[in-house]
Amino acid sequence: YRAKRLGKNRACMAGDGVERAPAQAVLIEELRTALATDQLRLHYQPKICARTRRVLGVEALVRWQHPVRGLVPPGDFLPVLQGTPLEVTLDLWVLRAGVRQLAQWRAAGRELGMSINVSPGTLVLPDLPAAVAEIVREAAPLQPQLLGGIELEVLETAALADLGAASRAIQTCAEHGISCALDDFGTGYSSLSYLRRLPVRTLKIDRSFVSNMLGDRGDLDIVRAVIGLAEAFGVDTVAEGVETAAHARLLDELGCSQLQGFGIARPMAAPALEAWLDRQDGLRLEQVA
Ligand code: C2E
Ligand code: MG
Ligand code: MG
Ligand code: MG
Repeated sequence: YRAKRLGKNRACMAGDGVERAPAQAVLIEELRTALATDQLRLHYQPKICARTRRVLGVEALVRWQHPVRGLVPPGDFLPVLQGTPLEVTLDLWVLRAGVRQLAQWRAAGRELGMSINVSPGTLVLPDLPAAVAEIVREAAPLQPQLLGGIELEVLETAALADLGAASRAIQTCAEHGISCALDDFGTGYSSLSYLRRLPVRTLKIDRSFVSNMLGDRGDLDIVRAVIGLAEAFGVDTVAEGVETAAHARLLDELGCSQLQGFGIARPMAAPALEAWLDRQDGLRLEQVA
């Protein structure tokens, strides 16, 4: 999979096994430079309350503003970092940039939360809670409560790959006031007993089930089951990939708590997100009037 992506982006590669490794090494070097020269950007995708449609927060999503290739999506460069130390460096950069942005928004009176994706290597850093707390202290010395507005997203499949380590890490985060979510939930094989060991605040129902739930009975059953599971454990649900009003309506009826997807808004750079938020406020005022 990685090699295919690389092959697409690098016309010079023949794509055979011998040449893949150097191509990855080149990409990793480029990413190191990208981090050092401030080429990474964050886009933010809103999450809304399914019932009231109020905006509750955003998910920070990284992009690479490449000098030649333009804006590169994370799927084209994160896989090559998997398991390398640079992956952790990138996550910490995202945390710092995201928290700074959140602090600015809060200071401007926008009551938002922020979800930030972390790779498994970052989640299990022994001093992750301390690092996050330090980042919050630096970005917002006067807003210690900002920490409670952050949620770390961990892939369900990653949490299951090393359940013991993930469970301990999520527990430690919780003890330090940092919430976690299981991302792309439903793609792994979490059973009731596994979930008990992962003290997360949120399950994010994977996009594939949500997208197909209107036409595929099996996917609808999965969405319903995940919402039931979340209710049983007292955790929140976020549906990702909400693309139409029909999806949003049904998810609300099924008891899903939050919605995220292109049907609500695409991920946007900070200024566009601010304009979008202001328009939402305007719409609500019109409804009231
Ligand atoms: P994710 O965390 O599951 O994020 C949701 C992805 O689905 C985003 O893709 C978003 O643009 C896309 N999406 C949202 N709504 C819809 C929809 O209605 N329809 C469709 N077709 N897609 C939708 P994106 O930004 O390309 O990110 C892909 C993945 O890369 C993320 O999936 C996440 O796993 C990873 N990622 C992104 N940023 C970071 C980061 O800062 N750190 C780490 N470790 N991973 C990241
Ligand atoms: Mg995510
Ligand atoms: Mg997801
Ligand atoms: Mg995903």
